[in-house]
Amino acid sequence: MASVDVEIREGVAIATIDNPPVNPLSAPIRQALLAAVEKVQADASLKGLVIAAKGRAFIAGADITEFGKPPIFPHLRDVIVKIEASAKPVVAAIHGTCFGGGLELTLACHARLLGPGAKLALPEVKLGLLPGGGGTQRAPRLMGADKAVNFMTSGEPLSAEKAVAAGLGEGPVEGDLVAAAIAKVQALAAGTLPAPISAGPGKLAEPGAREAFEAAATALAKRVKTEPQVANIVALTRAAFDQPFAEALAEERKLFLQLVEDPRSKALRHAFFAEREAARIPGLPPGTKPREVKRVAVIGAGTMGGGIAMSFANAGIPVTLIETGQEALTNGLARVEKNYDTSVKRGSLTPEAKAKRMGLIEGKVGLEAAAGSDLVIEAVFEELELKKKIFAELDKIAPGALLASNTSYLDIDAMAAATSRPGDMLGMHFFSPANVMKLLEVVRAKETSPEAVATAMELGRRLGKVSVVAGVCYGFIGNRILARRTQATERLLLEGALPHEVDAALVAFGFRMGPCAMGDLAGLDISWRVRKATGQKALIADALCEAGRLGQKTGKGYYLYPEGAREGVPDPEVQALIERLSAEQGITRRKISQEEITERLVFPMINEGARILEEGIAFRPGDIDMVWLHGYNWPAWRGGPMHHADAVGLPYIAKRLAEFAKTTGDATLNPAPLLAQLAAEEKGFSSLKAA
Ligand code: NAD
Repeated sequence: MASVDVEIREGVAIATIDNPPVNPLSAPIRQALLAAVEKVQADASLKGLVIAAKGRAFIAGADITEFGKPPIFPHLRDVIVKIEASAKPVVAAIHGTCFGGGLELTLACHARLLGPGAKLALPEVKLGLLPGGGGTQRAPRLMGADKAVNFMTSGEPLSAEKAVAAGLGEGPVEGDLVAAAIAKVQALAAGTLPAPISAGPGKLAEPGAREAFEAAATALAKRVKTEPQVANIVALTRAAFDQPFAEALAEERKLFLQLVEDPRSKALRHAFFAEREAARIPGLPPGTKPREVKRVAVIGAGTMGGGIAMSFANAGIPVTLIETGQEALTNGLARVEKNYDTSVKRGSLTPEAKAKRMGLIEGKVGLEAAAGSDLVIEAVFEELELKKKIFAELDKIAPGALLASNTSYLDIDAMAAATSRPGDMLGMHFFSPANVMKLLEVVRAKETSPEAVATAMELGRRLGKVSVVAGVCYGFIGNRILARRTQATERLLLEGALPHEVDAALVAFGFRMGPCAMGDLAGLDISWRVRKATGQKALIADALCEAGRLGQKTGKGYYLYPEGAREGVPDPEVQALIERLSAEQGITRRKISQEEITERLVFPMINEGARILEEGIAFRPGDIDMVWLHGYNWPAWRGGPMHHADAVGLPYIAKRLAEFAKTTGDATLNPAPLLAQLAAEEKGFSSLKAA
């Protein structure tokens, strides 16, 4: 239960917030804080108020579950006004995370004492919002407008030391922070109360302040072009110079409310909640505990194995990296070292940290080296028979270890059947580069034990990944949906679009790259090999590979890459090849609009997402969104495919899919039953309850 305990010590009231786990400023907390400020005013025996909090966080921020809903009294603004108007000193004792509305609340206090573990941020920008509790006006007065605008538009936290240096508070205070805050209240009560930040211009009046701010604003405008919240924060910081406090505050409120209703902010807030929800495993038997994982073995030191080993080493977990021969092992370890060296050169890793991480990765030849590991992750070639053989051996070599495959597509149930303990077998599907990409698909096979799933999810958390549970099917959640986009790309190219037109549509949609440029970057032979192994065909992609056009690595693929250029240019030869294939298929090519290209690429992905939900491969629509956001660079401000579907409206998508099915003759494009049903009921995917 959210509460604020008030106790009196040495004539000072101490209001301690207790709203686990991170003390957001929910309505009961705001009410209790308001009451505490009023009590201090009314009681002549009290000298002032200390605001403190229990638990690891001080105040993690506003309660974002309240955003976009009818307001609940009192507003954060009311509490802030009351604190600022207090005739007696109010001091914040900030021991931990103090974010967003929490920081804005403390900016109304007469002093802020920071403990060594304090972390201060105004991270609203990350949710497509701006600080809406006076932060855009008080932070510039306190920190200087140039520093404040960077602080607010990055959303990144400052440590206690840095926050003190930036002028946000005093300290860091070693020892008893609340006792120090009580002493501060007493000292302030004995002298004259400092004027509130809002009463004067503060650092805005310093010489050169405006020039420094304008320079920071210009630099920002170059870097960030499209996010409305950033432009609004810059405008409001400028208003701090130009407008009276109350007027600028009203403007801040107006722009904040506009952003709350902006679909881009709604998508970012959806993603924020979906990421947390993804960690919850429905139906886990009570008392299921993750196993302890102290040592991991990774089989295969190729592209993925090396990256996976780095992920564990980065999290401080020792890894044995295993290959079939010394040469492959040496090459794999050299690639790992080269990756770390790049980070050292860039300055993002110290040489000592690199040495420590390399020290955690032990290279070995032969599967026997997996003995004694708590978890073995297999990342060898994508061949089912090879994988089955390896798991059959690992079953005996590493008794008691969890057995995980990094396969992209293959049947984990079949691998489990090759072992004597299918309960210990699951998929842990990392994305390339594994040490960078945040997604981990945790694939539960038919007999995977709840404990194994819980262990993999907990490990994902330790590795700093966003982990999503998936069921077994060809390509799991992410690659199964990707296959739909790849199929649509082929069709669009055959019907009349060119690679740069398909890519431009997805870039305009918000992706960093379209499917053709992406294929060229990854190497077109990867999926070619998969197609050949599984008897699938893709006329254009196959023809490109057959012509030796494997992408960037061969200087040509869908595009031409003159002299090692990273950006491809359209190639008339590819256009001729595509036109020839269209003609061979008897297709009369036509101009396809960007809007149609986008719908033809994205709607079938949504449809596949609906099937994935129907089959219980994903627990909830938000999980599918997390897979695409963190594994495939889906634009965060579009929330993921399933959120996007709700934003567009399912009736329209169902109607378009039926049209695509008719015009292409591909019945699999017809709306999936779940999509059709929700569309008929005029509901969205968000109406589905988690399993
Ligand atoms: P890769 O060819 O780069 O590496 C495979 C490595 O496994 C090679 O170094 C090979 O020598 C080694 N190997 C083969 N048999 C072995 C054995 N019996 N014992 C020990 N080592 C052995 O392949 P990759 O791209 O790293 O892919 C590995 C797996 O990860 C595949 O199942 C693939 O589908 C999956 N995957 C790949 C990607 C990607 O983008 N490359 C992404 C996710 C998953």
